[in-house]
Amino acid sequence: MQTPAPAKLELTGRPAAPGSALGPIVEIATPRPGKRAAGDPAHESAALLAAIGGAMAEIDALSTKIKGTGADMLEFQSAMLADDALHAPALADIAGGAPADAAWLGAVGAQIEEYQAAGDAYFRARASDLVDLRDRVLRRLNGVTRPTQLAVTGILAADDLTPSQFLEADWTEGSGIMLAAGSSASHAAVLARARGVPMVVGLGHLPISGHEMAMIDGASGKVVLSPGAGEQALYASYRAGAEARRQIERAASAKPATTRDGTPISVLVNIAGPADLAMIDPTTCDGIGLFRTELMFRDGKPLPDEETQYRAYRGCLEWAGERPVTIRTLDIGGDKPIRGLTVAGESNPFLGTRGIRLMLMRPDIFRVQLRALARAAVHGQLKVMLPMVTLPAELDETQRLLEDAIAGLAREGIASRRPHIGIMVEVPAAAIMAGSFASAAFFSIGSNDLTQYVMAASRDTPAVASLNEGAPDAVIRLIAETVAAAGALGIDVSLCGDMASDSRLLEPLLATGLRSFSVAPAALGRVKAALSRLAIGGSDGQA
Ligand code: PEP
Ligand code: MG
Repeated sequence: MQTPAPAKLELTGRPAAPGSALGPIVEIATPRPGKRAAGDPAHESAALLAAIGGAMAEIDALSTKIKGTGADMLEFQSAMLADDALHAPALADIAGGAPADAAWLGAVGAQIEEYQAAGDAYFRARASDLVDLRDRVLRRLNGVTRPTQLAVTGILAADDLTPSQFLEADWTEGSGIMLAAGSSASHAAVLARARGVPMVVGLGHLPISGHEMAMIDGASGKVVLSPGAGEQALYASYRAGAEARRQIERAASAKPATTRDGTPISVLVNIAGPADLAMIDPTTCDGIGLFRTELMFRDGKPLPDEETQYRAYRGCLEWAGERPVTIRTLDIGGDKPIRGLTVAGESNPFLGTRGIRLMLMRPDIFRVQLRALARAAVHGQLKVMLPMVTLPAELDETQRLLEDAIAGLAREGIASRRPHIGIMVEVPAAAIMAGSFASAAFFSIGSNDLTQYVMAASRDTPAVASLNEGAPDAVIRLIAETVAAAGALGIDVSLCGDMASDSRLLEPLLATGLRSFSVAPAALGRVKAALSRLAIGGSDGQA
């Protein structure tokens, strides 16, 4: 008898990246137990120990290739796998008649929960090491070899997604993301918007069992599992509409941005790395307004050395030609922990040692980046931007470290140039006291963090996501005050947070006096088209 097709199921989550997608569901969740039938305990124990041995061999093979921070993680994993305390409960369950996969999942699952409950970024990172171990062994028990790269051709379904998981996946045209947890202000959501991958978060629970297809609408937060013919036809007409809009946006992105009443506006792009530039025509933007360099630093991988960083920065400057390129120094910490660099055990990493605070504590790491930046500055219009600045002293200290780096390069006979140094205005104290940062070459407002700190609502907590959405009045007022302070000091001010990529928020942003925005590459045409419909006095030219 044939299994009946599952009934259509509609879910509502939170919009995180606009666009629609329809396709097969791709689950990156746990390889599930239950594939193995309970068998002879001696056979199941041997199978488990062989799978553990195979996973250890995989890790050892990897550790011969990796040095530095990544090696620590692999050592930790290897030691965990070798620990009898981890095997013993699983072997006891097997002796009681459980199949090897279920026994292993139960034994490791308990440990993972403990790490996850710690609520600390460092321990959460350790939990993902354990998840990785659990999955390596489970895959072997299920007879599957571990995929090296996730190619997503459909709708990815997961509990949550880290920025590095997003970056490691290969997103094909028409793919999308639906998450049980997650938040629209998370870095993974920022990346999804930048790449134009539709995303819905905060679905609470993903009842996908038995469903093969899903349709998501990243603008409304709607998800339909097993969509019927009606929804599929609707999706086809949506795609046709989206294609028509894309034509308009393509035409808008080919021209310099101006408002309906002729005020020129600078529109730059935010990137995660030079790879993003392959998809952007430099003539369609006014430069790079934000390069999030920490995304080149992957947790568990060796740190990029000076030469690697120099090549990446130089590549951006060469791509941009005469246009300015703003490269942000490392913003590690918060929801972007890197083992061995981030301070372990902080109870609230977003309020802890993040961004410039961490770099000033680690001049050994910071110096490498400053040298690479000063070398790259020779190749174009480089602006260097500091994240999470709270006090003018942090800017002064960085200026001193930069001078030292340049002097060191000169002694070694290596060409360099002093880039302009500006600050991100994303900590409320910096916004309130913007007038005291007279030595900054420019301000770039980070509306993502400014909003989370002003609203006291962390950007990765779904329960408070609504406080982070839109353009809250308190944030708009602080932005207007920052723009006024920049005007009084005579320094340039721009906004590089995701607020500017949302065309509905451009009107209040223009009203603060801002005339420069840096946006997700996928939003470039949409933002330029929306600006052309707005007049500085207000009012959208279109119904
Ligand atoms: C911001 O906070 O607005 C910003 C641009 O930086 P990030 O999102 O990388 O923290
Ligand atoms: Mg920020």
